[in-house]
Parts: sequence; structure tokens; C-alpha cells
Amino acid sequence: MAIPFDTHPLPSQRDLMATPFKRDVKTRAVYQEPTPTFDKDNPFQSMMERFDYAAELLELDRGLYEYLRSSSRIHITSVPVVMDSGELKVFQGYRVIHNEVLGPSKGGIRYAPDVHLDEVKALAAWMTWKCAIVGVPFGGAKGGITCNPAEMSPGEIERLTRRYTANLLDVFGPDKDIPAPDMNTNEQVMAWLLDTYSMHVRRTEPAVVTGKPILIGGSQGRREATGRGVMTSTLSAMEKLGMRPGQSTVAVQGFGNVGSVAAQLLREQGCSVVAVSDVSGGYYNPNGIDIDAAIEYMANHGRSLAGFDGAEPISNAELLALDVDVLAPCAKENQLTSENAGDVKAKIVVEGANGPTTPGADDILNENGVLVVPDILANAGGVTVSYFEWVQDRQGYFWSLDRVNRRLDRMMRSGFDAVYAETERFGVPMRIGAYINAIEKVANALRLRGIYA
Ligand code: GLU
Repeated sequence: MAIPFDTHPLPSQRDLMATPFKRDVKTRAVYQEPTPTFDKDNPFQSMMERFDYAAELLELDRGLYEYLRSSSRIHITSVPVVMDSGELKVFQGYRVIHNEVLGPSKGGIRYAPDVHLDEVKALAAWMTWKCAIVGVPFGGAKGGITCNPAEMSPGEIERLTRRYTANLLDVFGPDKDIPAPDMNTNEQVMAWLLDTYSMHVRRTEPAVVTGKPILIGGSQGRREATGRGVMTSTLSAMEKLGMRPGQSTVAVQGFGNVGSVAAQLLREQGCSVVAVSDVSGGYYNPNGIDIDAAIEYMANHGRSLAGFDGAEPISNAELLALDVDVLAPCAKENQLTSENAGDVKAKIVVEGANGPTTPGADDILNENGVLVVPDILANAGGVTVSYFEWVQDRQGYFWSLDRVNRRLDRMMRSGFDAVYAETERFGVPMRIGAYINAIEKVANALRLRGIYA
């Protein structure tokens, strides 16, 4: 069937969605990936399930559907590292470019023992949707290396980072693909990446990476940006439900870069943050936790909350089931599942992490009337300030923190409103509203650019 790619006049949504996609047995057989079984913990499959739902509602053209669900390019590279012991070890590295229709691809790099291709593919696609929702001119990508950074020395991590960068030198570039921090990577790792790239191209190229130290071209407010976006998303959601920060309680799962900042800023807005957690477990204080004290404790105790005495210890399961107004999962994927979603008592779930809620859990939360602010909106603050950083690097002119924060707040709020409007238009959960908003933008951009043949 012909794909409607002749360009005039400018497309309406109906034009774009010309060939109805219906989820009946016949079409599913055509669209289905060869994977025979559904693994509920596989992030790529869980992403695709939501994508399919939104595509179905949009009656997305079949060709567009195929196009948007595919990764544009997948790079898998062996990364040899001489360890401190002298032993040579080879790590598996990935960089997946999901889509570049809206601009150069953008997305973080994570270092973790369970990094695998399907996870990186899902995270890359999420970046495409995230950038589209907040309106930053980037496509989506993600990278990762399967390794255990907790068992590696700084020197080993540096050599791993430099060799990974060198292997992917032709992939990265300020106008091509721009990495950033993600799980277990930080400003220092970005600095090594910047240096390695710059050495190869024989000039200092700050705009090749974001989330780097301010001294070498990073942006004010980048480190706090994801947590700040979680805070503004939470306030927007509260406004919709007529809740007041001063009368609301919050539980935050995860106390890393996202969770700790979100907790601190929500506290500043007047919320009572009654529970936080990290890998050492949960901490609960019904009178509100002193977040500054918790952050300081963590900094002085090997980046762990273990032994923090400003709250009583609880389990991770107990934290998720607390009787609070807002639950912010800011740790990692697959935390709210069909097994524990029924225990959630919060009125609002704000996803600081990528993919913390499985599709099964989504169904339960929706049925129970919980407003879920999805990851691709709620944690888009990070990539938004990454965009500001990239703009500043290219201009060689740097903004004040106040300017960064004002612009971030504005973009997060307008992203929220746009997603909420789709949610009301289609009568769907916010997550599906977010996918609809993003898919429409990327599909419209593709229609305008056309397919190069
Ligand atoms: N890793 C972050 C995310 O998942 C930030 C990506 C970026 O700034 O490019 O959104």
C-alpha cells in the first residue's frame, strides 16, 4: 500500500494516519516482532506495548508504525580494558540511535552489570519521545556498557570510558549524536569522553557531550535538572487534582541524583517528604525527613543512607505502599509491577526513573484512579538542560542559574499541559497521552522531511 508521503498541502493528523492500524489478529501477526513470548520485565517490550496502544488510537499509518518502532542504528562494540591487575578484560558496549528526525540524537550512557541490548533500545526510544514532548530539537539515543562500576577503580573506569569513546568516535559528534550521564556515570565520565573525542578530532569540542563539569563547558543547573523537572511535574499534577504542596506528603524511592534533588525541592515547595530510600533500604519519618541532613549524611557515609537516624528503617516494599499523597519512583526500571501496584495508596505517581512501572502495574494504577505522570514527561528535565548546555557550548556564552531554571520550568510546564490535553482529548491515562503527543510530533516531522530514497 502506498505511504502518503507526497508533501502538499501540510499534513493534518488524518492525512498522517491514513492507513488505519487496528489491533486485530491479522494485523498483529503482521506487526509483531519475532519474539514469541512476552517478558514482563523486558523494557523494550513494555515500551512497545504502550507505543502500540497509542499507535492504535492514532490509527497510525502502517509504514510510519514500522518506522517509529525500529531503531535507526545499533552499534555493539567490544571494549578491551587493561585492569589494574594487568589482566585484559573485554566489556560489551552499546550505542543505539533510535531516531534522528527531530535533530541529532541525544541520550545518556549507563554502566551496570545488567545492561543489555533490549534495555538500551527501549531507553533510546524513550529519549526520542522525551525530547519530542518537551520540544527540544533532538532525536533519541542511548548507550551502555555491561560492567560493574562498583568493583572497578577510577583508573579502570577512565580507560573503559576512553576506549568506548574511541570505538564510537564516528558515531558521536555535536551535530550527530550527543551522550550524557545516566545510571552510574557522572560529570567525570563525561569529562573523559569529551577529552578523548577532542584529542581525536584535534580541537576541544565541548558540545559533543552534556552533563560535564561546569569548568569545562557544563551548564549551571544540569546536575539538578532531572530532579527539578520531577518537582515541577509533581506540582503540575497536584494542581490538576486540587492538592496543595503544604498539605501533601511524599515518598521518594531512590536517593541518587534524581531522587535526592526531587526530595529537596519538593520539601522547599512545602511538601512533607516522609520517606526516602536507597539500596540500603527505606527510611520513614511521619513528621517529615530533614532532606538536607539526609543528603549530608549520605555524602559523609560512602554515598549510602545506611545508619541514617533521622527516620526509622522500612523495607522498599513498605515505602511503595505508604499512605502518602505522592510517590516518586526515582530508582530504576520495573519497581511497580502487577504484584505490588495494588498496594500503592498515593494519589499521584511521578516517574523520576525511566520505566519504573510495568504495563501490568499501569492497568492496576489506572483502575485505582492513581494519576501516573509518566517518565517520558516527568524526567525530561535532564535532557532539557542538556539541550541548554549544548546551546551554550555552541555559542560560547553561558547562562545564569536563574535563567536555566526559569526556562526549564517553562518547558516542563508546557510539556505537561500538552500531554494533559492529549490525555483529555483521547480519554486515556497520561502515559498514553504522552506517547500520542510524541508520536504525532515525530510523525509530522517525518512527513515534512519525507523519506530519502
Ligand atoms: N540520561 C538522562 C535521561 O535519561 C539524560 C539524557 C541527556 O541529557 O541526554 O533522560
